[in-house]
Amino acid sequence: MVLFDQVVKQFGSNIVLDHLDFSVAQGERVTLIGPSGSGKTTILRLLMTLEKVNGGVVYVEGEPLSHMKRGNQLVPANERYLRTVRKKIGMVFQQFNLFPNMKVLENVTEAPIHVLGLSKDEAVERAKQLLDLVGLGDRVNQHPTSLSGGQQQRVAIARALAMQPDVLLLDEVTSALDPELVADVLNVLRDIAQTTTITMLIVTHEMQFARDVSNRILMFDKGRIVEEGPPDKIFSNPENERTQTFLRAVL
Ligand code: ATP
Repeated sequence: MVLFDQVVKQFGSNIVLDHLDFSVAQGERVTLIGPSGSGKTTILRLLMTLEKVNGGVVYVEGEPLSHMKRGNQLVPANERYLRTVRKKIGMVFQQFNLFPNMKVLENVTEAPIHVLGLSKDEAVERAKQLLDLVGLGDRVNQHPTSLSGGQQQRVAIARALAMQPDVLLLDEVTSALDPELVADVLNVLRDIAQTTTITMLIVTHEMQFARDVSNRILMFDKGRIVEEGPPDKIFSNPENERTQTFLRAVL
């Protein structure tokens, strides 16, 4: 599970997250929506430990992520601690960020071998299963550059899952794709949502997708949650005026 406890994040004088509290239960799939600049990506970047909090604590699976324990106290996490806790989090980016000089299979086995310490055989077996799951079992020996954007993104999904993270973060994973390739990627993610119990935090402009896969929607405005609830409620019958205006503009 994920817990943000009174999290403050600011860039200079710009307070992006203002004492933010929310939690995501084990196995829950939550989509963050809201206008540009409302803080959605910052939340994912805090979970990826790419940013540091200015106040409050981020927890994953009951353990602090932004901080580490020293005796009874929590102190800001150091690099060594971050290297261990980062393994709990998998992320798929807008730009696929695959290793271009490695074959598809190696892209998926690299981190399990070098970060988790799996044997090559174990890593290859796990990678092949996941590449089958994303429909690319026949592409293991190709280089990413010979694949379409949608196929590359599916490799990136397999790569993230190969680390068996507790939480999978999806940050605008279809934004860089040609429209006809979006559906393949979303279908793979729908399958994963239906067949696994992995906790997911999603930022997307694909509202139908958000509706299909999420258990809960969090609507953000100016770094605060202004409304939350099950997708049917938020999309069909939003109560907050800011949610209503936002959805009128994007649906
Ligand atoms: P979008 O939907 O456009 O991606 P968002 O809701 O994800 O927006 P964030 O990217 O989290 O919003 O940005 C929230 C605020 O933080 C914005 O005002 C942005 O300008 C600011 N911000 C984000 N990253 C930085 C940074 N590295 N340095 C300075 N300001 C930043």
